[in-house]
Amino acid sequence: MTEVTGITAQDIAEAKAARRWDLTFPEPIERRFAAEMDLRRGQAIRRVLPRTLVIYNAFLLGDHLLTPDAVWLSWIVHVALVTPWIIVAIVLMPKIRSRPCRDLLVASLPLSIIAGILAVYSVSRSPLAAHYQYFVVIALLYGNAVLRPRLTLTLAISAVTVAAHALALATHPGMEPVVALSAVSCLVVAAYVSLSTNAAMERDLRRLYLMSLSESLVASDLGRTAADLHRMSLVDPLTGLANRRGIDVRSAGLAASPDAGCAVLMIDVDRFKPFNDRYGHPAGDRCLVAVAGAIRESVRGGLDIAGRYGGEEFLVLLHAAGLEEALRTAERIRSTVESLAIPHEASEAGRVTVSVGLAMAEPGAGDLCPTVGEADAALYEAKQAGRNRVRAWIPGAVSRRRPPGGIVPDAA
Ligand code: GH3
Ligand code: MG
Ligand code: MG
Repeated sequence: MTEVTGITAQDIAEAKAARRWDLTFPEPIERRFAAEMDLRRGQAIRRVLPRTLVIYNAFLLGDHLLTPDAVWLSWIVHVALVTPWIIVAIVLMPKIRSRPCRDLLVASLPLSIIAGILAVYSVSRSPLAAHYQYFVVIALLYGNAVLRPRLTLTLAISAVTVAAHALALATHPGMEPVVALSAVSCLVVAAYVSLSTNAAMERDLRRLYLMSLSESLVASDLGRTAADLHRMSLVDPLTGLANRRGIDVRSAGLAASPDAGCAVLMIDVDRFKPFNDRYGHPAGDRCLVAVAGAIRESVRGGLDIAGRYGGEEFLVLLHAAGLEEALRTAERIRSTVESLAIPHEASEAGRVTVSVGLAMAEPGAGDLCPTVGEADAALYEAKQAGRNRVRAWIPGAVSRRRPPGGIVPDAA
């Protein structure tokens, strides 16, 4: 398997196997997870905060009823401290890029609410204040289960809250020890429940994230394999030129072009069978690679196509080339192969040579098959004339092999 932007199947397997108490992934998955999820979490928290403002301030009614002697402090906490801080969080949340800073901001929200409750409770001497301190449980549940900070942070918020709550109850003169014990126990249970809910949700989220990463990995592998197979299906593995299918695919547009015709060159290695017999097939393969290289460098880039038609035959399609230019290219191919000077004792020239047949297709011809047939006929004439030469099919001239048309004399 390959990778999805720096993450490999090995990384995912390690992340699945990892059993970390804080549920974090090993790098680099944690980095990627943080980059994708922190943003979403930030947006989710931001959506929740306006509702928080309304609900939090609605609790002022509870302050009036349960701690009327300290309601002045409630108003200060609500209006001057916590409400402005929540508004600051709404504004700052999307702007903060640093993860620790964002975490601190999230943690500060339940902690500031809880601090306010405990401050009012500590100041109040109302006989109903023992009921008021339970607001801390609601604030902690809100922090842990609604804002859902990261697990380590949830743990820290819960520990600080339980400690501060216990201290406030222990130092409050009107608090019965039994009620205090029950209230602290209640808070510890609320902390535990919200922590485990938070952990379970985080675990599920991370499991789903790993599954989606695996799927993307498989999908990108399949896409790559399909692209490789497609490329391979169009290329001749020996020479790297287009194969027969590649020629067909690429020439379809060329043949249909209404603006420009094209020239078809059929190139055949002379006496190649004796070459194989004399030097062996591996040498024959190397010879084909060298001939393919000579063809490739003799052809312009762009829309021109050079391909291996089959065996020791090659096909070149020259886009928008006139007869003169096509003859020049054919001759360039012939002479370049000859100048490779690959020894071939069984051939007339004593070295590897090619014969070339050439035919012209009209603009918008659509189907190049007839032109390929004409180029083949011209190639046949080149062979007949002694090999290592170029012949062109000229429509209207008299042919010895094909019905209408003819062959121009040696262009070399
Ligand atoms: P001519 O000059 O008339 O073209 O004669 P020729 O011997 O080149 O033609 P022929 O069609 O008799 O032989 C073609 C040979 O090309 C036969 C075959 O073994 C060889 N050949 C075809 N494909 C390959 C290949 O991929 N590798 C090698 N080494 N030889 C190949
Ligand atoms: Mg041949
Ligand atoms: Mg042949």
